[in-house]
Amino acid sequence: MKNCPICNGRAVGRVGTDQYYCWNCLIEYDINSKIYEVEEDGSLTSV
Ligand SMILES: [Zn+2]
Repeated sequence: MKNCPICNGRAVGRVGTDQYYCWNCLIEYDINSKIYEVEEDGSLTSV
């Protein structure tokens, strides 16, 4: 499991292939540490 690139925490869950969700930051990120905000409708916005 890859730590969160923002808080470096381990409170993360896998949500897809090479994609993770941080419960601390409420963001998703991928294996390249590219960060996405999760919109209310569930879509992702690149940050
Ligand atoms: Zn985090």
